[in-house]
Amino acid sequence: MTAAVTEAPPRPSRVLHRSSRAVPPRAIGGHGIWLVEEGGREVIDASGGAAVSCLGHQHPRIVAAIQRQAGQLCYAHTGFFTNAPAEDLAEELVGAEPGGLAQAYFVAGGSEAVEAAIKLARQYAIETGQPARTRFIARRQSYHGNTLGALSAGGNAARKAPYAPLLSPAFSHVSPAFAYHGQHPGEDEAAYVARLADELEAEFQRLGPGNVAAFIAEPVVGATAGCVPAPAGYFRAVRAICDRHGALLILDEVMSGMGRTGTLHAWQQEGIAPDIQAIAKGLGGGYQPIGAVLVAGRVVEAIARGSGAFQHGHTYLSHALACAAALEVQRVIREEGLLENVVAMGERLQRRLAERFGNHHHVGDIRGRGLFRAIELVEDRAGRRPFDPALTLHARIKQEAFARGLACYPGGGTLDGVRGDHVLLAPPYIVAPEEIDLIVERLGEAVDAALAGLP
Ligand code: PLP
Repeated sequence: MTAAVTEAPPRPSRVLHRSSRAVPPRAIGGHGIWLVEEGGREVIDASGGAAVSCLGHQHPRIVAAIQRQAGQLCYAHTGFFTNAPAEDLAEELVGAEPGGLAQAYFVAGGSEAVEAAIKLARQYAIETGQPARTRFIARRQSYHGNTLGALSAGGNAARKAPYAPLLSPAFSHVSPAFAYHGQHPGEDEAAYVARLADELEAEFQRLGPGNVAAFIAEPVVGATAGCVPAPAGYFRAVRAICDRHGALLILDEVMSGMGRTGTLHAWQQEGIAPDIQAIAKGLGGGYQPIGAVLVAGRVVEAIARGSGAFQHGHTYLSHALACAAALEVQRVIREEGLLENVVAMGERLQRRLAERFGNHHHVGDIRGRGLFRAIELVEDRAGRRPFDPALTLHARIKQEAFARGLACYPGGGTLDGVRGDHVLLAPPYIVAPEEIDLIVERLGEAVDAALAGLP
């Protein structure tokens, strides 16, 4: 069996890899949902990296669009110029002003998008004469990126721990909306939502409602917990609390957005709209590094009426080549009706996972929306007790799956001090029914092999 990473580097590497003990194999190509490794082995990209590759690999239309744009203009600094791909992409994303979102700000990735979202909310407070609004409320089970502001917002304890002294005290955290672990026995969904809303209200009161700039959350939690949608009514309750206290609602759809859950925006399934939204990953589908902040009209108007400039910026804002790639990705999704495939294949994936793992002793939950699904592994199903984190079950599953030609995205989430194991699947929107079946078949074998290998 091939190991996921080679213990002894096949050749020296000067790349600072994630692991300093092993160099991963080289990817040399790809087609559809498949990645090709040096030597010719093909691996299913069952989570699109980290929910990135929404169109799979080497899509001919995106490759052609990049080639066209590269021959014309790659980069022009936004201090002097705008460019057609950025203008057209903004029109594509917010031209119809979905939910009041009126303008788009293009950055190079998800963390940059979250940083910009946080700063926009702060600047909105200043521009509207509310300088006391310096506080942000987030949730304990969440991931918003690895830069210091985004990391401060996140609730992923393991990723935060080494940098705790550098993180911002402006962020406080409330409970996640995570029914599998958070809903009490006998408590119905409405009562659970009411309890979470009461806790958020109490946090506003503790901070002083006039001191809070924004609440930030992922509509469907991705990396930290594994595809966790909120219970029905949760985001309506959150929206109402933010409105009551004059705070903005920032939704981080870096992972769950751009069609991943079956609607272009995950918030469209919640009956609300954000004031500021962060997107990335599926925006460019991995063809170029790009993220964006979508901003409600009232926020951009407040800045336009006030100082007239967003006090922020990066070198690669509105990068022409990145915007051209993202524009073509979004056009392909729209013109080929791929969200219908996300819904249909997402239902098939849920069904196949339920068939394979529904009675599995160590699979406690199978959840998600669209092509954003996860299984959660537990030692004891009845008590929902996770495995000992020292066993690193999720890492074992990753290794067993990769050995079987399946790249998936297992994680060890941290929720209020409890660390559990999950496997996140996010295949490309072009995935075929038989490919869904193959993903579940290989995952089933990998999970059983990993469990059998536990000490
Ligand atoms: N926000 C969420 C919800 C994410 O899942 C991620 C990345 O996984 C980020 C932000 C950070 O994005 P990036 O890794 O592109 O900086």
